[in-house]
Amino acid sequence: MGSYEDTYLAKRPQELCHMCGRCCRVVTTSKSYEELKALQAQNDIGACEFLKIFEPYPSIEAARKVDKELVDNVINLLKEDGNYDESKMTFYGCKYLQDDNLCSIYEERPVLCRHCPSTPWSIVPPGCGFEGWLFMERENAKQKVRKAKEDLLELQLLKQKKTDEEFLKKVASVEHKILNTIELYKKYGSYDW
Ligand code: SF4
Ligand code: SF4
Repeated sequence: MGSYEDTYLAKRPQELCHMCGRCCRVVTTSKSYEELKALQAQNDIGACEFLKIFEPYPSIEAARKVDKELVDNVINLLKEDGNYDESKMTFYGCKYLQDDNLCSIYEERPVLCRHCPSTPWSIVPPGCGFEGWLFMERENAKQKVRKAKEDLLELQLLKQKKTDEEFLKKVASVEHKILNTIELYKKYGSYDW
């Protein structure tokens, strides 16, 4: 079985993209430019791939001139999460995006482009064709985890009433599967849902 992200990517409806080019024109990363360059120097595949196509804007203001709504949206979301640090913030634009919003290396575009948006928790530009679908995916994941937690509580109550060893082994196996489901979404906050 693949990872949660692999499963998500396989079912993502690519036709929802209306090719506005905004996610190529102005992007940012959770790592600073300096951190990315340090990783690139260590031949980190993700950093090398990213810096091969994306060039940093000289300032946040320069990126704002290209797409103010997108830049402000990212900054506001980071502030809401308490993760905003202006000194580490860099926006980038792809050198392969054409004026008609099409990719000049589409057939050879890197994996990071093929996977964008790579999870339902990816920040996409306002109005991106994936927005609604990503929201539904996040909600579905949360519902699944909440149901798993309910099932876990029921199993714990059941265990208190039973002594049969075989039965308890089966319960433990089901509990294990349920805990795996919750763990699968851990990086997206499943323990708080
Ligand atoms: S911002 Fe969304 S709709 Fe626009 S090109 Fe990127 S993925 Fe497609
Ligand atoms: S390589 Fe193509 S798909 Fe990837 S960011 Fe650049 S223009 Fe967009």
